[in-house]
Amino acid sequence: MKKILFASSEIHPLIKTGGLADVAGSLPKALADIGQDIRLIIPNYQSIKDIDQPRYVCTLRVDNRDVNILETRLPGTEVIIWLVDYRPFFDFPGNPYVDEQGNPWFNIAERFTLYCRIVIEVAMNRAYLDWQPDIVHGNDWQCGLIPALLSLETAPPASIFTIHNMAYQGTFPHSTFVQLNLPGQLWNPEGLEFHNMLSFLKGGLTFSDRITTVSPTYAQEIQTPEFGYGLEGLLSYKSDVLSGILNGMDLQQWNPNDDDHLVQNYSISTLKNKLANKTALQEAMGLPVNESLPVFGLISRLVDQKGIDLVLACLPQILDMPLQLVLLGSGDKGIEQKLQNFALHYPEKLAVTIGYNEALAHQIEAGSDIFLMPSRFEPCGLNQMYSQRYGTIPIVRKTGGLADTIEDALPHTIAEGIATGICFDEATPSAFLEAIKRTLVLFESKTHWRKIQQAAMKKDFSWENSAHQYLAIYNAL
Ligand code: ADP
Repeated sequence: MKKILFASSEIHPLIKTGGLADVAGSLPKALADIGQDIRLIIPNYQSIKDIDQPRYVCTLRVDNRDVNILETRLPGTEVIIWLVDYRPFFDFPGNPYVDEQGNPWFNIAERFTLYCRIVIEVAMNRAYLDWQPDIVHGNDWQCGLIPALLSLETAPPASIFTIHNMAYQGTFPHSTFVQLNLPGQLWNPEGLEFHNMLSFLKGGLTFSDRITTVSPTYAQEIQTPEFGYGLEGLLSYKSDVLSGILNGMDLQQWNPNDDDHLVQNYSISTLKNKLANKTALQEAMGLPVNESLPVFGLISRLVDQKGIDLVLACLPQILDMPLQLVLLGSGDKGIEQKLQNFALHYPEKLAVTIGYNEALAHQIEAGSDIFLMPSRFEPCGLNQMYSQRYGTIPIVRKTGGLADTIEDALPHTIAEGIATGICFDEATPSAFLEAIKRTLVLFESKTHWRKIQQAAMKKDFSWENSAHQYLAIYNAL
């Protein structure tokens, strides 16, 4: 049995802005289920919800600040979560990265530096918890200083660092490095320095014993300039300790046969019951109720990564086709505005909901026939897995985790019963439109469509498989 300290800036259901929270909420549970002693650590944000009243454990003094450690459990499990409680930093409304108005926290570097310093205290068993991990597993740039600071300790635990998205690096000017009071020996091009800037992400990559990312294809892609953002050289250099492990999905939360958000549950053997969800979605979205028109769904952060510009570029052509589109998302204000304008012009075909809405996300997955995910890059992606489980056929760009989780519907893959979606290569409006047209043709052939739906719903996206792959790495460390 390994003792693992798992550090993440978000954990579902406590606080979530994206897929990282889903991973941090389910991988530790899967590892606990296979007998590992894993504990989580996260800042005690004001917006944290859905937990039992935490218990005060101790107060640590780091960097001239008194920081409390509180203890609670991951809901529905025995997994311990330690909350790093420092009110002057974390007791504000907003999410881990931005305030209520959507502005990045002015002191975000200080916040996550303090968090990393506390992780080090726990990792080195200096936090009165009477527990020392064998392994510290950090995630994304917010945890990047953990391997860096651990490298300065005597006999530290082994470290593993997982990249969920290379696009977010946590870079700051040199003056921030000075303000943060970080050890001077970390400031060099073999350390935290990246083109004269402080890079948290580089710290995670440089100093960790193992690096993982969330799909095998993305592990290859980030070693190239297109996806590596200047760190591709470092990643290639460390390629012998870099690997890709696909995320699993939460099978309990995303189960069409046991989903409280749906008007009618269904499974592979009662697929016809999916229709009630389509009708309910059309009604709820104010779209004409029509069984034969395919409903396309899209749920996403509205940012460049997700290829929303491709959708916008061909939206008039898409909406000229016999289909309806239901879209849920939030993010870039310009994109939100453009989508809402389109919705005003096409009230019979396009329904746009701006915001974050968990229940509606489930209803769109169940009520749509087809799901759009034209990402420019996608480290792993979860919605295409949810879609497959809900018999909602995804159209995806062949990149990262999308390439690893979808089998393109071609004549031979359909015949073999392994096709589960539609893939396109080029991130261009014309390639995307071609994929949509190809999908509409398939949708007309009910036998083909049913076959694709069944293959998709049968796929195993459980965490168990991935948890064993992580365990193999922990054991090798
Ligand atoms: P990323 O982490 O890049 O945002 P993923 O596909 O890995 O993308 O995970 C996104 C997660 O966030 C999914 O669980 C998805 O359903 C959810 N999500 C994204 N936007 C919304 C939204 N507006 N409302 C509800 N859930 C959303």
